[in-house]
Amino acid sequence: MSNVNRFDVITIFPEYLAPLNLSLIGKAHSSGLIEIGIHDLRAQTTDVHGSVDDTPYGGGAGMVMSPEPWGKAIDAVAELAPDEIHELIVLTPAGEKLTQDLAQTLTKSKHLIFACGRYEGIDVRVSDYYATAKNFKVREVSIGDYVLGGGEVATLVIMEAIIRLLPGVIGNSASLDEESHTLTKDGDTLVEYPNYTKPKEWRGLEVPEILLSGNHGEIAKWRLEQALIRTNLRKESP
Ligand code: SAM
Repeated sequence: MSNVNRFDVITIFPEYLAPLNLSLIGKAHSSGLIEIGIHDLRAQTTDVHGSVDDTPYGGGAGMVMSPEPWGKAIDAVAELAPDEIHELIVLTPAGEKLTQDLAQTLTKSKHLIFACGRYEGIDVRVSDYYATAKNFKVREVSIGDYVLGGGEVATLVIMEAIIRLLPGVIGNSASLDEESHTLTKDGDTLVEYPNYTKPKEWRGLEVPEILLSGNHGEIAKWRLEQALIRTNLRKESP
């Protein structure tokens, strides 16, 4: 078994995943903290057009992604991490909603495979098949209640939420402790307190005096109060 988390993305638009080369994720990848593979679904097609979709059974508008290239692509990618349980993330607006808690759970998975849908989505038999396949787990995941053109942007969002939580990816891991949406000891989730930096006064707006006091106990108390106020405001106007 490998120690690093491996992420494989299957898409018809590999170029869409270019931002994975940047910033924290780019550094984590180039320093060997994680492994990333981007795979073109069309490489698994057999016809001259590289067709990956067909008309929906039952009629209706749009096209549905065919199961055969998906099955071949997922099987091929599973061979890249043969000793791991493969967690197949099928992106769909109908899936379980991404939360900080889910991102945290997914950090424990050593091999994540992201299936980026396009058109009307992927034939549901792909999820159904791998849900009972040996060494696979399937999760259908949504990043929110709206419809994107494809799963690539959703994959970038989910990967970033997971990868920044992995040990060694963020220089100062203490900065993860008090973040928004992280579970507290009491099992609540709060959004973070407001942040300020220099200068002390900007366009007539002052930094709260308490933050300049050096009294760490009082600052912690103030920050907790502010976090509670912001959390409650959010609940009132979701
Ligand atoms: N016909 C689908 C429906 O109404 O549920 C929408 C298909 S959407 C145009 C094409 C693809 O974009 C989906 O298969 C999925 O991979 C991705 N997608 C769109 N919205 C998404 C969301 N909110 N979360 C995750 N993936 C999404």
